[in-house]
Amino acid sequence: MSINRRSFIGLSKGVIALAATTATTTALARKQETANPKFIGACPTASKEYSRRPGPTRVMIIGAHPDDADIHCGGMALRLIERGFKVKFVSLTDGRMGHHIHSPEKTAEVRRAETLEGARRMNLDGYDIYGYPDCGLYPTDEARKKVARKIREYQPDFIITHRMCDYHADHRATGQIVTVASYLLGVPHWCPEAPAQRRRPVIFYMTDPFTNPRPLRPDVVVGVDQYLEKLCDGVDAQASQIYEWLPWDAGYEAKVAALGDRSDIKARNAHIIKYMFGRKRADAKRFADVWKGRYPNLPLPKHMEVYEVSEYGRAPTEKDLKLFSGM
Ligand SMILES: [Zn+2]
Repeated sequence: MSINRRSFIGLSKGVIALAATTATTTALARKQETANPKFIGACPTASKEYSRRPGPTRVMIIGAHPDDADIHCGGMALRLIERGFKVKFVSLTDGRMGHHIHSPEKTAEVRRAETLEGARRMNLDGYDIYGYPDCGLYPTDEARKKVARKIREYQPDFIITHRMCDYHADHRATGQIVTVASYLLGVPHWCPEAPAQRRRPVIFYMTDPFTNPRPLRPDVVVGVDQYLEKLCDGVDAQASQIYEWLPWDAGYEAKVAALGDRSDIKARNAHIIKYMFGRKRADAKRFADVWKGRYPNLPLPKHMEVYEVSEYGRAPTEKDLKLFSGM
């Protein structure tokens, strides 16, 4: 089936308006509406007829900095890996601004080594740093093409990235780069050095607390309590951030000093859980009613990760959502 790619995608009051130019596209969109009414605004070129490549399900978690994927999505990553998925973390920037003492060059070097160690501890399928300057990431044509090339090469089934209303300019730029690239992944003459990807990935947004223009929609909620210990071990590899930069930035260095040489793993983990996973606790409270409504027979987790389906990726079927969430 051919899809006319000259469809125009416009945005109006937060709802995607689709002006399809062929009966084929219209029929396809209608089919998706029937199959999954919740995601009727999703990319109209999503098509179930394009078969996926063989092998394990692959997930790319694309953050702006070399700790975003770990801290915000680490529980989900470990859940997926446990179920046989391949999970790759990506940081678009080199993280060079993430220290108050080291030079930017030194920080970038330290953080690259830390991500490799974190990837080893969490059994990731790699942790790639694309090297854009920290606090200087923009949605340029070059960045868009680079990210699209990498996505086409890895062929992920699912992508997780930032929303475009996050506090950090690099996070906003990352969300924009990834979601803008998503439609273009299937356009053969755009960025032709990597073959176009006809079966586009489903894209999810990682959680954030922001409300303007609207709060995150909890399309997928998962409990991650049972993964916290292993996640602490992975996050501990980002020592320059967990024990140096972030405490300095937020003013709790004294709490880190009390940990000493961090040989007390129980105390170390308690520190990481307290200071790094507050969002997971906040989300467990914020979305408790959602959880109880969907899973009335399961206990309410203390730590939760929450994901929203992006309208710019492939429209997920119920099977996709079950595969991703494992619920
Ligand atoms: Zn970040």
